Amino acid sequence: MAARAPFSSRLAEELASDVLERFLRYVRVDTQGAYRAAERPSTQKQLDLSRLLVEELKEIGLDDAELNDGHSVFATLPGTVDAPVVGLIAHVDTTPDVIGAGVSPIVHEAWAGEPIVLPGDARQVLDPAVLPELAAREGHDIVTSDGTTLLGADDKAGIAEIVAAVAYLARNGERPRAPIRVAFTVDEEVGRGAEDFDLESFGASVAYTLDGSDLGELEVETFSAASVRVTIRGLSVHPGTAKDKLVNAVKLASELVLSVPRRHLSPETTEGREGYVHPHRISGSTEEAIVDFIARDHDDELLASHVELLHGLAQDVEMREPRAKVDIEVRHSYRNMRPVIEANPRVVEAALEAIRRAGVEPRLAITRGGTDGAVLSAQGLPTPNLFTGGQEYHSVREWASVQDMAAAAATIVELAGVWAESSE
Ligand SMILES: [Zn+2]
Repeated sequence: MAARAPFSSRLAEELASDVLERFLRYVRVDTQGAYRAAERPSTQKQLDLSRLLVEELKEIGLDDAELNDGHSVFATLPGTVDAPVVGLIAHVDTTPDVIGAGVSPIVHEAWAGEPIVLPGDARQVLDPAVLPELAAREGHDIVTSDGTTLLGADDKAGIAEIVAAVAYLARNGERPRAPIRVAFTVDEEVGRGAEDFDLESFGASVAYTLDGSDLGELEVETFSAASVRVTIRGLSVHPGTAKDKLVNAVKLASELVLSVPRRHLSPETTEGREGYVHPHRISGSTEEAIVDFIARDHDDELLASHVELLHGLAQDVEMREPRAKVDIEVRHSYRNMRPVIEANPRVVEAALEAIRRAGVEPRLAITRGGTDGAVLSAQGLPTPNLFTGGQEYHSVREWASVQDMAAAAATIVELAGVWAESSE
């Protein structure tokens, strides 16, 4: 057995057992969401955890904890000083892509560095040789699933950290703290997390999602995102009498997909700040075919040019086959939060300072995705994304370090103190 890795600070060490205990409880609650559900939340079972959280927040002393009409849990921890209200946000749902029922978490205490074979499915191995983040955590207490389900650290690590931190602050009233508003949302993974989020009743001046990953990271940029649906109408005729009449929408849709760049502008060939267009769904028949794309970029002008490219490619279909009718429909989903964050530099400075006080070297990062915070930032609430210590999200090989989760919880406690110093 390896020597157990130290915690990032005394506070992190003090918080660790409460974070872990809550985390192990929350991951056992199945909160898997569903794509394209008509109802909201997309699955009712997400609210099983929401209701449990209302009870736990009340036990801690957040008496106003409630599940509101927007399907979010809201609760308040009053401040000890007059300071900006700090929002802390995490999501209860897990991804529809990986099974979330029957999670049976395993704690590999003081992990010695050997590959971790998950006992429920021996093909699932966490190999430090190919997982540098894991290799760097010898001696940590590593939590995994048994290999048959996801773990659910995304985002139950964030929830456990917020609840443990708020419980600590409530118990230690002599510690100066800014007022805190807590929110636990539904359906983040299906892109509907910030829907019905009542910003006014939330009442925060600044906020942070606890929905990031690697230790010390603060994500201050997201993609800007658009979805593009191309509908191609052909002309269906019985194939026996189709000569010079049939206009086959299936073939035209295939040509459209083949005309999309592959060596660049694709998710599978880009990284960092490079954007892409991505055909992710195709459906239809000879009469009518639909191709759904998403377009992503950190830069709004470049995103507009990617959408323009799809416009051009869709028009080319009509040029090649004038009897076809092509419609294109563009929807903007969320915007890069950077401009809003840059206009509120204190939001970033306070988080970096809190991470440092938790004994961790902070790092600014960008995400190749969106967060609830991107939507909230666009609505005027600057909301960058803090690390949680979870890794390999949306996979049965998802894992989390207890030491890193404790550091995230300590960061939240410190953050309440940093913002308390902003009181005037
Ligand atoms: Zn998440």
